[in-house]
Amino acid sequence: MANFDYDLFTIGAGSGGVRASRMSASYGAKVGVAEELHLGGTCVNVGCIPKKLFAYGGHFGHDFEDAAAYGWRLQDPGLDWPTLVSNKNKEIQRLNSIYRKILESNNVTIYEARASLKDPHTLDVGGEEVTAEKILIATGGLPSIPDFPGNENVITSNEVFFLEKLPQRILIVGGGYIAVEFAGIFHGYGSEVTQLYRGEKFLRGFDEDVRSHLAEQMLAHGIDLRFNINVTSIERTSKGLEVSLTDGSKIESDMCLYATGRVPNTKNLGLEKVGVNVSQNGSLVVNDQFQTSVPNIYALGDIIDRFQLTPVAIGEAMVLSANLFNGKKLKMDYQDIATAVFSNPNIGTVGLTEAEANERYGEIVVYRSTFRPLKHTMTQRHEQSMMKLVVAKKSDRVVGVHMVGAEAGEIIQGFAVALKAGATKAQFDATIGIHPTAAEEFVTMRSPVGN
Ligand code: FAD
Ligand code: NDP
Repeated sequence: MANFDYDLFTIGAGSGGVRASRMSASYGAKVGVAEELHLGGTCVNVGCIPKKLFAYGGHFGHDFEDAAAYGWRLQDPGLDWPTLVSNKNKEIQRLNSIYRKILESNNVTIYEARASLKDPHTLDVGGEEVTAEKILIATGGLPSIPDFPGNENVITSNEVFFLEKLPQRILIVGGGYIAVEFAGIFHGYGSEVTQLYRGEKFLRGFDEDVRSHLAEQMLAHGIDLRFNINVTSIERTSKGLEVSLTDGSKIESDMCLYATGRVPNTKNLGLEKVGVNVSQNGSLVVNDQFQTSVPNIYALGDIIDRFQLTPVAIGEAMVLSANLFNGKKLKMDYQDIATAVFSNPNIGTVGLTEAEANERYGEIVVYRSTFRPLKHTMTQRHEQSMMKLVVAKKSDRVVGVHMVGAEAGEIIQGFAVALKAGATKAQFDATIGIHPTAAEEFVTMRSPVGN
């Protein structure tokens, strides 16, 4: 039998790579992992965690305004942006060191270097030759900026967490998770925000009511949200950025954030040399055991482009390590994955949209409630929450739960368990609510839409 340095070598210590490495090691495998940037990958360093911290911070903008209605008299609250960035950096460094400890305490050897494939069992890790029986590619993705004149003037989510000062005016391009989240964050901190989306309505793939409701809320907050429009060119002038748009108009801004999707991070990995198949968009093609076209090379997380979400990368890593080193034969379950968009207000969603349910079940019943949250009955802020249940008529099963409103992510996580367990509308109805909460609306909706 060939003698390898490692049973498993992982390229990339992000959400998926760290979990697969440490779980495999905990099952007794000898594991090495290479990371060229920071332990924890995108989510910890330039993704979920700093984004959520920024979102908490941005929300204070509204909270200070709302406080007056509850009797608080505040002096004009001032913002010290560098404090935000520096405290965030400290917290991320703390998390980096936690990731290091997790790996080290599981006897995973960490290489702080770039790795690439030389042959199916050999890697170049920062100039050192390392061999492994099995190799896992978990190199994630990178922000992608379309090609247009002046695109060197824009920033992406990689830079947005390290700005020296808050832009007074920011233009955000894109209509996905990152664009709407940062529109809310910058607006909360007091920037003038313009968001452009090239299509009819942003957040493609989400329930129609969710898309419309969030758009209304963002417009009501004062975000200049424009659909059916795109950028043609950007020029840097003495006043900032002059951005030309497809309708012939121009806008001026201090900063432009592009959030137009991410591409698989496969550059110079040596995939062609080794014969690992890639799909048209550059992501790695794997079977349901996360095996690439080279049987001892595996891939998971953003690089396989199924769901670009941290809990999915972690779930895939749990399946892979248990199958490889703990004698299991598991398959990743991609059904009913709950997700949240940390926009202001949040979106939380699990299961099918109304359109998807219609297509799958034919006969469905929809329940929807739009209301002013109790908190804002005192503040007069124009903020409306929206909740929606989609029910398959024949089985009475709830197949979609959607919400736009404060803490929607927190609320929907619990309902995701109910959905996964196959709960019926009758069981939702039989559940006693918690009063006064927004979440109780999900168990008290009785009149279907259209009745
Ligand atoms: P990554 O976490 O990207 O890790 C890949 C690692 O591989 C990186 O550290 C990289 O440096 C390293 N690497 C790449 N090539 C090499 C090489 N050749 N050698 C050595 N190392 C290499 N998901 C959520 O679930 N919730 C959220 O709220 C959320 N917010 C997000 C916000 C933003 C702004 C972004 C960009 C993403 C967000 N995501 C969120 C998505 C989430 O971050 C990703 O789905 C997740 O990080 C994917 O994990 P991964 O292990 O596949 O890759
Ligand atoms: P998304 O894929 O979510 O959205 C990309 C957006 O950019 C879409 O609206 C797309 O439009 C638009 N777009 C694409 N190309 C162009 C172009 N050439 N010109 C103008 N617009 C364009 O990507 P994000 O970058 O927002 O985020 C990447 C992924 O990271 C997300 O899909 C998500 O999986 C994950 N993420 C998760 C978060 C969470 O869980 N809260 C938060 C942030 C990110 P169209 O729809 O027309 O294609």
